[in-house]
Amino acid sequence: MAQLSDDCFAFGGPMMSVDEAVGIVATRVTAVQDVETVSLAQADGRILANDISAPLPLPPFTNSAVDGYAVSSRDLPQAEEKTFPVMGRVQAGASASEAIKPGHAVRIFTGAPMPQGADTVFMQEDVRVEDDGKVVLPAGLRSGANVRLTGEDIAAGTPALSAGRRLRPQDVALAAAFGLANIEVIRRIRVAVFSTGNELVSPGGRRAAAQLFDSNRFMLIAMLARLGCEISDLGILRDDRASLARALKAAAGAHDLILTTGGVSTGEEDHVKASVESVGKLVLWRMAIKPGRPVAMGIIAGTPFIGLPGNPVASFVTFVHVVRPTILALSGATQQPLIPMPVRSGFTYKKKIARREYVRVSLRAGEDGVLEAVKFPREGAGLLSSLVDTDGLVELDEEITRVEPGESVGFLSYASLI
Ligand code: AMP
Ligand code: MG
Repeated sequence: MAQLSDDCFAFGGPMMSVDEAVGIVATRVTAVQDVETVSLAQADGRILANDISAPLPLPPFTNSAVDGYAVSSRDLPQAEEKTFPVMGRVQAGASASEAIKPGHAVRIFTGAPMPQGADTVFMQEDVRVEDDGKVVLPAGLRSGANVRLTGEDIAAGTPALSAGRRLRPQDVALAAAFGLANIEVIRRIRVAVFSTGNELVSPGGRRAAAQLFDSNRFMLIAMLARLGCEISDLGILRDDRASLARALKAAAGAHDLILTTGGVSTGEEDHVKASVESVGKLVLWRMAIKPGRPVAMGIIAGTPFIGLPGNPVASFVTFVHVVRPTILALSGATQQPLIPMPVRSGFTYKKKIARREYVRVSLRAGEDGVLEAVKFPREGAGLLSSLVDTDGLVELDEEITRVEPGESVGFLSYASLI
């Protein structure tokens, strides 16, 4: 497990900006070093452990990009069309055929190796096949057209995938194209997840009148799963300092991160802070972010602890800005900055300066076809429907104080956030 010093999350200022939070976790969390080998079918979403350079050129051999007729550029019709006898036929997967003879064409298919001496391919749609089997090729084709040269995609030896990359389907495809059957990745980050609160009941359980079903735990588990974590669902903890402390301590040894939701405010029944302090070290990060409340950061027996707020929307947003970078840092992954896409605001919004705010919005195409962000009508941090019925968040930077309809704003889709 990662062993961190007790004061690694200490922060001097009164309010922490979102960028500072990401910076602190990115620099103060040590990555786990354990590497495991996975087959390519298991590689999506995993963190690459070692750099990969191209062991062969891509494409590995020069081949035709289309179905058609291969010729030598020395024979290309210049001013007017020209008739060619067809001397052979090369399919994809065929071994090298005989060299092309002057004034001849070879029938060729997409992906087939170019016959020796041929360097240009006419698309079959552009030629006329005569009754005697000869082909009439039009004038004007560029020398080298419709041919994919060895290494034009990636030359042999080129650095192609860097350690720390969170593999996407296209990255897995590249490893496959290199002929790698297995790759080395960082082992999954082990995360213990608890909800806290006397008012919570697990879905499927018996709910008393003043209780609600625990929804955050399942949201967090789903988000962690998308980040490739191995999750221990440790259920619901009562608002009781001693039992919280016991459960947190027990979880520390076997996990890389302990994550809780609820109980981190400063009310009398918010016991997470005191219980962490009794078994480890804790700081409350007052983040300049809305929605969001203080996020608790701590260390229990060398294992990082993050206590998210209980309100579902605050929990979601702080997960993105604190938990996600922590998971990436623990797995030695390159941090992936969130890149808001410009859309047109369809709403008016007033905001506090020096605070980052996230507005839940749906997207629709305006009359002129430009994408427009429509704000969810209500703002409560407890409204799950506001996350369910929207497409993402508009990110309003610290210096902004007001947004008017028609202005350009930055949109982050939910899909891009984890
Ligand atoms: P807390 O942060 O514990 O003060 O909780 C703030 C609000 O979030 C309260 O209304 C809680 O009932 C609610 N809440 C806390 N934890 C959860 C949870 N796991 N699922 C759904 N709502 C929760
Ligand atoms: Mg609570």
